[in-house]
Amino acid sequence: MSRISQWVGGLVERIRAWCVRLRAPGRFLCDSCRYDYGDVCKRPERPNATRCPDYKPR
Ligand code: SF4
Repeated sequence: MSRISQWVGGLVERIRAWCVRLRAPGRFLCDSCRYDYGDVCKRPERPNATRCPDYKPR
C-alpha cells in the first residue's frame, strides 16, 4: 500500500471515530453500545472505551 493511501485511510478512520464520539451521548462509548452486556464484548477497552472500531449505538 502506498504512503498516500495509508495516510488517506488513517484520516478516514480518524474522522469516522470523531463522528462516533460526537454521536455518543456519554463520556464512554460502552455506555451506549449495543455490545455492552454479558460476555458479548471481550475488548480490553471495555467498559471505558473512548475509541472503538466495533462501537454500535443501541
Ligand atoms: S464494542 Fe467497543 S464500545 Fe462496544 S462495549 Fe465493546 S469496547 Fe465498548
